[in-house]
Amino acid sequence: MSELLSRHRAVMPTWLSLYYDEPIEIVRGKGNRVVDAEGRSYLDFFAGILTNMIGYDVPEVRDAVERQLATGVVHTSTVYLLRAQVELAEKIARLSGIENAKVFFTNSGTEANETALLLATYARGTDQVLAMRQSYHGRSFGAIAVTANRSWKNNSLSPLNVHFLHGADRHLTQFRGMSDAQYIAACVDDLRHLLATGVANDVAALIAEPIQGVGGFTMAPDGLFRAYKDVLDEEGVLFISDEVQTGWGRTGSAFFGIQNHGVTPDMMTFAKGLGNGFAVGGVVARGDLMDGPHAIGLSTFGGNPVSMAAANATLDYVLDHDLQRCAAVTGAILIDGLRAAMPRLPVVGDVRGKGLMFAVELVDPGTGAPSPALAARFMEETKKLGLLAGKGGLYGNVLRMAPPLTLTEDEAREGLGIILTALETIDEETGK
Ligand code: PMP
Repeated sequence: MSELLSRHRAVMPTWLSLYYDEPIEIVRGKGNRVVDAEGRSYLDFFAGILTNMIGYDVPEVRDAVERQLATGVVHTSTVYLLRAQVELAEKIARLSGIENAKVFFTNSGTEANETALLLATYARGTDQVLAMRQSYHGRSFGAIAVTANRSWKNNSLSPLNVHFLHGADRHLTQFRGMSDAQYIAACVDDLRHLLATGVANDVAALIAEPIQGVGGFTMAPDGLFRAYKDVLDEEGVLFISDEVQTGWGRTGSAFFGIQNHGVTPDMMTFAKGLGNGFAVGGVVARGDLMDGPHAIGLSTFGGNPVSMAAANATLDYVLDHDLQRCAAVTGAILIDGLRAAMPRLPVVGDVRGKGLMFAVELVDPGTGAPSPALAARFMEETKKLGLLAGKGGLYGNVLRMAPPLTLTEDEAREGLGIILTALETIDEETGK
């Protein structure tokens, strides 16, 4: 055991899996690659769980942050005017497509979701909230309450009354054999039934991830969110899209994930990639919700000048380099390449995703059952070959990959080669 790993017991939670038999200590990064303490280089296909949106050591981000540090002000307080914050809010409000939008900055996705849930419950005067099966929204009371993924539930004494809707859990027996249209009709029926009979009074909001991140990059079929939104609109129930993983062009086909579904939400929450490693989160919402009688007010560090400098530089970079289009192109190389290989790889149960957010599900080739053991093997094999991936999903058998949006076409092909080599090795081993 390395010296650093043996000291990791000082870090809570000590049971946390560090992904590999011998966990990696990353000490440097450049472009879309990182280097570990032993000098091994990796193509980064997880980007710090989608945090390094435009790669490592980006001069534009470094310069913006250094310029801010050179002023001598890391942070004073958001009670003062802050140009970078106003500029970033204006950009996000415009990009959101939400009418008369305003932005509130936080330090994390959890805090962003907590804020959105507070705003929704204030605006609607009820603690009833809808969320999706298999969801993950963060680590606070409210965010855990709307999280359905059992691994992350803990014992939350919820401040909210939460009801979970069907979406990406279409594999359930009761839905087998249904067409998309039949499935959507069944889900809408369920929602209408719940609204009519299952809630004590008005419902504040539905919170949903357009593609479920921690859940294993699982997706509701096209048309479901639109159908839900139509029902919710009839009742005045708000729609919160959690864009913590799906925002900023990552899905290739839209700038925010929910826009793939033709839905303009009332609020969106974001975090992770926007600061390209610096802690930035926030809520963008309809102005009337933000300006309600219980306006949220202040976050001491939310919107601080260093994070704002990093976020402005990152967002400008994404827009100036049309990284949404890049994600569409490189994502297609990867997703198409993996799909094409599926027939000769019985360990691969599913390949799914949009743009640079894609997943491979590993199954026991004999039974088709989810295989977390094979996912763990894949992690070791790709580490050896110099690629970082993520894993997760409800059963721990989903390989999640989401490289920086700056991934080049050559790097996409290189990564595809490594992934396929690792899958072939695992497939051979299981066939023995
Ligand atoms: N929402 C989603 C969809 C997430 O994936 C995450 C983090 N994995 C969060 C919220 C919570 O964000 P944070 O860890 O920054 O609090």
